[in-house]
Amino acid sequence: MPLVIAMDGPSGSGKSSVSRGVARALGLRYLDTGAMYRAMTWWMLRAGVPVDDAEAVAARAGEPVIESGTDPDAPTIAVDGQDVSGPIRTREVTNAVSAVSAVPRVRERLVALQREIIGEGGIVVEGRDIGTVVAPDAPVKVFLTASEEVRAARRAKDLAHDPGATVTVTLAEQARRDRLDSTRAASPLTKAEDAHEIDSTELTLDEVIEAVVRLAKS
Ligand code: C5P
Repeated sequence: MPLVIAMDGPSGSGKSSVSRGVARALGLRYLDTGAMYRAMTWWMLRAGVPVDDAEAVAARAGEPVIESGTDPDAPTIAVDGQDVSGPIRTREVTNAVSAVSAVPRVRERLVALQREIIGEGGIVVEGRDIGTVVAPDAPVKVFLTASEEVRAARRAKDLAHDPGATVTVTLAEQARRDRLDSTRAASPLTKAEDAHEIDSTELTLDEVIEAVVRLAKS
């Protein structure tokens, strides 16, 4: 069986940097499932779909064509052939994505796409429900955490171009998103029973990557 590494955890826990680093170190592909939910959300907003109306979102969820590139050095995300890697990171999308990803029809569609990509060979997959729902048989599962303050500070650094995204605002928006992601009915963010929990608060990026590589080799 090809090596599949499931990397779950809340926002800002460092999943993307760790997953890409692990994929590079082990010569695996890399899939950012959060980018797929963001791409779906970006499309809904652009199409004028009211994102808090679950029925309206479900009715249109089959429309956008979402494509993910899995090179850890240059991951890509496109919607209907258009590169959306920049636009999916805006606060507008970030603050709407939890509502869209709570819609079961959205999840069914994206989970099917994710399983197709995973089926093509060794890969590190980051998200919220990879170890529990998308790839429950993954031989390596990691649940990555960090203190709320460290996570918000990391996010705020990512959003340095946005003057409204102070650490205080980011902390509040992140807490809201984590609450919505953890309490939704469909595939809420939870640690898989057999996942290894790694708290990255006091660790450097390289130390976390090393810990996951060690798990994969054990
Ligand atoms: O990882 P990222 O913060 O980019 O994820 C954006 C959002 O996508 C999350 O807040 C969550 O609502 C949703 N998501 C999800 N399931 C996944 C990955 C992301 O519901 N596997």
